[in-house]
Amino acid sequence: MSRAPNVKTRAVRIIGGGMAGLFLGLRLRQAGVEATVVESGRYPRHRVCGEFMAGAGETFMQRSGLRFDSPAFPRHRATRWYAGGHEVLRCMLPRPALGVSRHVLDHLLADAFRAAGGTLLEGVRERGNGSDDPPGTVRATGRRACPSPWIGLKAHYTGLTAEGLAVHLGRRAYVGVAPVEGGRVNVCGLFRKRPGLSAQREKALPAYLRASGLAELADRLDGAVLDPASLCGVAAFRFSPSFAGRGSGLCLGDRIGVIPPFTGDGMSLALESAESALPHLVAYARGESPWPETVARVRAAHATLFKGRFRWARRLHPFLLHPAGAFAVRLAAVSGFLPFSLLYRRTHAPLPPCTSKA
Ligand SMILES: Cc1cc2nc3c(=O)[nH]c(=O)nc-3n(C[C@H](O)[C@H](O)[C@H](O)COP(=O)(O)OP(=O)(O)OC[C@H]3O[C@@H](n4cnc5c(N)ncnc54)[C@H](O)[C@@H]3O)c2cc1C
Repeated sequence: MSRAPNVKTRAVRIIGGGMAGLFLGLRLRQAGVEATVVESGRYPRHRVCGEFMAGAGETFMQRSGLRFDSPAFPRHRATRWYAGGHEVLRCMLPRPALGVSRHVLDHLLADAFRAAGGTLLEGVRERGNGSDDPPGTVRATGRRACPSPWIGLKAHYTGLTAEGLAVHLGRRAYVGVAPVEGGRVNVCGLFRKRPGLSAQREKALPAYLRASGLAELADRLDGAVLDPASLCGVAAFRFSPSFAGRGSGLCLGDRIGVIPPFTGDGMSLALESAESALPHLVAYARGESPWPETVARVRAAHATLFKGRFRWARRLHPFLLHPAGAFAVRLAAVSGFLPFSLLYRRTHAPLPPCTSKA
């Protein structure tokens, strides 16, 4: 990755080195802007994520020079949905989804950012909520902690047979099974919290699967090899975005709001939020735009790009998680009335027209 000389006058400080923060840092460096990313964790690390990148995410990556052409990274062209142990839907994806673990992806981004001349501070937690951030500060700190009835759990397995990307609908739960690099299969689910269940790390995912009516999948996991280091969980979700961001400065990615995970669009949206902020931040760095104006322009760009997608994803989400809704989805799917392509278009960045559907 080539280093651009610092030709701009003001620096940008990014808090949070996940997808959005690292990608913005890299793109700023490529535009010659001095950029620092402050990250509370260290790389590489596993994260709760379905680890399939649908939508336009790969296009943004390519723009930055990061490519995933190696056959080591699976490309999912179709998705299969299961309910009650039966396949109810098989669809071609309008655009292939990239299978890549966050362990590898965040590390690659961090390396690229450093190689481009960015300053990356690992193991440093910034305080505050953004209300008194100095000009030039971007918050890319991920999900806002808030009480939530949901829990997300994920783990990598080897020796698990998986035919491409699969989504399993359970009782108040859905689970993505997605092959990633190195022959690993990522299993990641969103579950309604069940306080009585095993709190033991290694037992939590199979216990949640069984309690959600997904015993068959749990049995398959029992026959595969778990990577204990990959186990992780999160319990704070807010699916309603905040584009106004009152008092919270300039936000990117999940800090704006978490798009329901069934879309597989969260990573793409994080990258897109950074890419759409880029010209405004470059103008700020050049001294052409004052900070309050820069923040207002970025928020307006985000609202235009994402409002509709969030609205649709939030409408569909309860259908997948409520037993009656899941039944309706299943019925629509088996009778051929589920408008998959249309729903995909409503919940992802614009695409060329969809041509095929299984
Ligand atoms: C169950 C589940 C499944 C999902 N599945 C998918 C999927 O299949 N495909 C997909 O595209 N998306 C998926 N997502 C969404 C996706 O993971 C997120 O949208 C994406 O990670 C957002 O990136 P981000 O950079 O905004 O936040 P993050 O990746 O969360 O990064 C935020 C970073 O900020 C750091 N940080 C936080 N606070 C501070 C602080 N005070 N100081 C310094 N650093 C700080 C954190 O350590 C973290 O590294 C899923 C999400 C969930 C919950």
